Formats: sequence, structure tokens, C-alpha cells
Amino acid sequence: MLSADEQSAFEESIARVRALATRALQRANQENGENGANEAISFTAQLHRSLDSVAAQAASSGPVPDCKAGCAHCCHVRVEATEPEVFRIAQHLAAQPADTLSGVVARLRQHIANAQNGAMRQPCSFLAEDRCTIYHVRPAACRKAHSLSVLHCATQAPEIPQNLRLLLDAEALMAGTALAYRDVHLPASAHELNAAVLAALTDASAQERWYHGDPTALALPLRIDVS
Ligand code: SF4
Repeated sequence: MLSADEQSAFEESIARVRALATRALQRANQENGENGANEAISFTAQLHRSLDSVAAQAASSGPVPDCKAGCAHCCHVRVEATEPEVFRIAQHLAAQPADTLSGVVARLRQHIANAQNGAMRQPCSFLAEDRCTIYHVRPAACRKAHSLSVLHCATQAPEIPQNLRLLLDAEALMAGTALAYRDVHLPASAHELNAAVLAALTDASAQERWYHGDPTALALPLRIDVS
């Protein structure tokens, strides 16, 4: 629970990020004509760099997170990403060799089918040997994820101890950026990562529809066929 002062500082941070990001997105839109969709998608890299910097500062001033490379407990729970983040991941994957891409699509389909059949906890489709295979384009939710006690993660405790300062700074960046996208009429809401990336990879019209303001651009058919 935040004090009134903390709540007001948090809201001011969101407003500050929103104003800066809206101006940058408007400029990108005006200056890039037909390439506007790609520029708007690339803009998520700025959010991601800011999040990485906030996480690094928090770790250096302490408390130090218990997270280490190769520890992937948090890659077995539901992860969400916004439309521009999803399209950035899809663009990265689409540039991979054809057999790599078809393997990713098969894993995504299987993941979603498992979820539709009731699987509550399964590895993210991008996890291989406990490492993230899309580390450089992973979404904001993964960048802000951290734990002050790996034991809590390993035992699937209902609450994971976290650094509140880091959480607030990360949430302000994420919320302010999402609001900025909406200010320029681009949908930016939370979608389950695996399903949304599959939609972006398999529907050639999805990115263009998103850029024209369609909030259903990342919708998938109700059932996924893995046969
Ligand atoms: S995108 Fe990468 S970091 Fe995020 S849940 Fe998947 S494997 Fe883990």
C-alpha cells in the first residue's frame, strides 16, 4: 500500500513518461510516412532500455535480486506483452532461418493447445535450456521481473518478495508508454505472450491492422490445431 505522497509521485512519473513518449511517437509518425508502423514498433526498444537501466540501478543500490542466468522459474508463468512489443518479437523471429521459425511456430501452437487443455504452468515457448532465446527483444514484463528470494520462486510461493522502488519505476515506464501509444491511436494492451506472437507470425495483416488502430489485430482463432 502506497502513502498518499508515494501515490502522487507514481502518478506524476506516469504522466511524465506519457508526455515524453507521446511526443516521440508523434514525431516518428510525422517523419516516417509509410515506415511509420516499423518506427512505432522500434520505439519499444527505448522503453526496454529504460527498464534495463532502472533494474541495473536498483540492483546496484540494493537490495540485490536473487536472480541469476539459468534460473527460469519466472519463465513458467503467464507473461504478457503489448502489441508493439509482440510485433518487435515477431519481426525478430521472422528474420531467422525458415527451419528456426517453423520450430518456434510449432512450439507456440503446442503451448497454446496445452493452455487450452488446462495446463496452468508450462515453460515459455522461448525458453531453451533455461535461457531466453529472445533475450534482446523480450518484453517489459520479463525485464522488470525479479525476486529477492529464489526459494520463494522455487516453491511457487503466492507472493514473491520484490524491490518496491524497482517495481514502481518499472510500472511507471510501462504504463506511461502504453498510454502514449493510445494517445497516438495505436492499441497497447496486455496480451498473453505466446498466443499474441503466434497471431503476429501467422496473420500477415496483423501489423497493418494494428497500425490502423484495430484492437483485435492479435486475436487468434478460438481453438489451435496442433495436428
Ligand atoms: S520471453 Fe524469455 S524471459 Fe520472458 S518468459 Fe519467455 S523465456 Fe522467459
